[in-house]
Order: sequence, then C-alpha cells, then structure tokens
Amino acid sequence: MILRMSNQPENNANLLVRSLSAVWHPCSQMKHYENFPLLPIARGSGVWLYDYDKKRYLDAVSSWWVNLFGHCDPRISAAITDQLGKLEHVMLAGFTHEPVVQLSERLRELAPKGLGHCFYASDGASATEIALKMSAHYWRNSGKPEKMQFISLENSYHGETLGALSVTDVALFRDAYGALIRQQSAVPSPDWRKAAAGESAEVYALRCADALEQHLQRHHAQLAAFIIEPLVQGAAGMAMYHPVYLLRARQLCDEYGVHLIADEIAVGMGRTGTMFACEQAPATLSPDPSPASGRGEHDSAGEGIKKNGITPDFLCLSKGITGGYLPLSVVMTRDEIYQAFYGDEMTSGFLHSHSYTGNPLACRAALATLDIFAQDNVLAMNRNKAAYMNEIATPLREHRSVRNWRNTGMIWAFEVETSQHDFARRCFALALGNELLLRPIGNTIYFMPPYIISELEMDLLVSRTLRIVNQLS
Ligand SMILES: *Cc1c(COP(=O)(O)O)cnc(C)c1O
Repeated sequence: MILRMSNQPENNANLLVRSLSAVWHPCSQMKHYENFPLLPIARGSGVWLYDYDKKRYLDAVSSWWVNLFGHCDPRISAAITDQLGKLEHVMLAGFTHEPVVQLSERLRELAPKGLGHCFYASDGASATEIALKMSAHYWRNSGKPEKMQFISLENSYHGETLGALSVTDVALFRDAYGALIRQQSAVPSPDWRKAAAGESAEVYALRCADALEQHLQRHHAQLAAFIIEPLVQGAAGMAMYHPVYLLRARQLCDEYGVHLIADEIAVGMGRTGTMFACEQAPATLSPDPSPASGRGEHDSAGEGIKKNGITPDFLCLSKGITGGYLPLSVVMTRDEIYQAFYGDEMTSGFLHSHSYTGNPLACRAALATLDIFAQDNVLAMNRNKAAYMNEIATPLREHRSVRNWRNTGMIWAFEVETSQHDFARRCFALALGNELLLRPIGNTIYFMPPYIISELEMDLLVSRTLRIVNQLS
C-alpha cells in the first residue's frame, strides 16, 4: 500500500472516496452519499468555501451556525497563532491561565446582569448537560432533592448526547434512542406559525405562557429547571417567537421556584440582533397586546418597545463563541447558585470535568471574537445588513410558493410549498450547483450567513435562492 504524502495535491474525487471509506459522517445516512456526493473543501476565505476543483460556495449557514466572521479571519488566526507560542493547553482543575480568566471576566461584563460564574466545556451538548446537572445538584444541596425533572419547549433542540436528548424534542434525533433516555415533558412552543388564524405572535406567545403556568402549577415540586432556546428554535426549522414569552417564562419560573436555562448556543453572540437573545425581553407586559401584528414583520432589534431583558439562571453558549474556530462552550450562572456548591465537602461541589475544559487556544479565539464585536461595531453593522437583506429579499418573500417569511437579527427563514419528494437534499444539491451552501430543514430554507457578508454577496444569495425556489416549487 502506498501512503499518500501530505503535500501531494488532492482532488475532489479522490478525497471523497477516501472519506466515505474511513470517515463516518454526522447527521447522515451514509448510503445517501451515493447519490448526493460529499463535498471536499480545500480552503475557506470570507463567506466562501472552495473545493479542489476551484469551485466556490457561499456559506449561507455559517457552517452549522458557528462561523461569525467568515473563514480564515486574520485577526482570530493571529490570536490563536500567538497563543500557540505560549501555552497550547493546561488542565483547568488545580490550574488557571490568563485567557480563561480574561474571557470569563469579559463574558461577565457582556452577559445579562448577575451571571458572574463561568463553567467551561467543549461543545453545546455538554453545556446543556452541565446546566441540567448544576440545576438538579443545586436543589439537592438546598435540601430539595426531589426537584430533578426538566421541561423544554415542543420541538426543542439542546444537543444529542443522552442527557441533552432528554430535553430535545426532535423526533428524528430522539426516537431511535428513546429507551435510553429519561424522558422529560415538553410544553407548547410559542412558534408563531402555530398561532390560530388572525392571532398575533404576541397573543399566541401569551397563550403558550398560560400553558406553561398550568404545567408549573401542577409539577413545580418535582421540577428543577425549564430550558429554552430564546427567540429562535433553530433545529425546529428556525421557529421564531415573540419576546414577551421570555418575560413570562422568567416571571413564572420565579413564581414557582424553577430555574430558567437559556440555551443561547445558536442564538447568542449577536445572531438575533442583540449580543444575547435574552436582552430582547420587554420590560413589562403590554397592557393591550396587539391582536394582529408582529408576525414575520416582527423587527426583533427594532426600537419602540422598552426592553429590559431577563437574566436566566443559567446561560449556555457555544457555536459562535470562538468565531467558528475551535470547540468551546460555557455555562454562566448566578452567585446564589454558585454559593450553594461552596463548602467543605467535595460532594457538595460541582462534579463535572472534560479533558479540554477551558482550553487556552479556544479561549484566545473567543477573546479575538469579542474584540471584533467591539472594534467593528458588529451589532450596528448587522442592523444595516439585515435591513438591506429585507429590502432585496422582497421577490423571494412575495414568491407564490414561499410561506411564513420571517427574520430575527441575522437569521432568515421560510417554507417552500412543494410537492418535491426529498426537498431538503434536492435543494442542497441544486444550491451547490448555484455556488450556495444551503442546508434546508425539511421544506424550510434558512439563511444564517457570516456577519461579514457583503451587499453583493447578499444579492447573489437572494437571486440564486429565487432561482432554486422556482425550480423546486
Ligand atoms: C447546536 C446546538 C446545541 C448542541 O451543540 P453541539 O456543539 O452540537 O453539541 C445545543 N443547543 C442548541 C440550541 C444548538 O443549536
């Protein structure tokens, strides 16, 4: 056997065959790659990914929602390179280092007020599990060990390890493993697509909050926490909901003594128009919720309503936190929760660790990411980009086969009315032929582009998507 030298030029076909033989790809039926080939990527630059045949693809989904500032951003690369020359890794039990301290302090500054303690892991599912464990252990340390159940929203997604699956309500990911999971309950999702005819997103969200209240009334004695994806349920197909639900969830969790976990793994880091989605909760309930407005037109980052935001008991971050460079996740929590673990006994401490907890390279990537937010005034820049996108997307939003057009911050989504069998994979393949990386969820097409996308690139994204929708509808 001849081993391939690493400096030998690669090509698409060759790498594809080798990958299918040796690599088991995630979220895939491997046999489908016979008809819808894998795409070997050689390099990335800005919003573009390039294969070995010099074809390019606009990464309209930020590589599974992680890449905030495009591929190979020089500032993030430089920070990691600098850190490589100092310290690549050290265990975080019994040791500390400057990047992890700095990052924790800066996140504390940025996050909703009161979240002063950062616990690290390497991926989103682990962050979910940390929040669940911490919540239940808090109640145990506080003399209420019976509070160990959780609730989530219908169609929720919080990761795919066994513990995270117990609060994930996506049948495709959960059904095969149901017997391995300690099943938890789900309450109605405020996803406005489910509103009754003529009912506004706000009124529907309030109705869902009433259902939450009924559940809490009956079960609060056994409940440790309620976990939500604030404003946008990503894996559910970018289901969007009115921010009043955040305020009601916070109020009700306080009233019934249940923790609120905000899973901002996908929506944090500026994606919804504010640094964290929780910031968009209104200060008070509107005295007269408008019965017929605020559906897809809902401008999440807009002016008008006074927003105080809410502070969850646990805030989970991952995905974009390193700009899409290295795996890192963090769970932030309040001092009162931290104090419930503080004592002489090892067993009352929080017993959880990962080998790469707080990895210095990943922390430096995260610090560089935060620097870019500040230096480039990213949130303001994104407001302009979102306005531009909404303007040019009119033909798409008004297309005869497009339903439920919606936008929150830098996320756009819509359903395509189609009789196409296997829409998602057909659309994916057709998009590649149009230089786009789209990854529909069912018949939902969504855009979640890197924040550095230019107006020209947005023009291309919209016009090519229009072409694809025309072909598939
Ligand atoms: C992606 C995601 C997770 C899981 O993160 P992984 O790093 O894939 O384990 C959890 N919650 C939400 C909301 C996500 O979007």
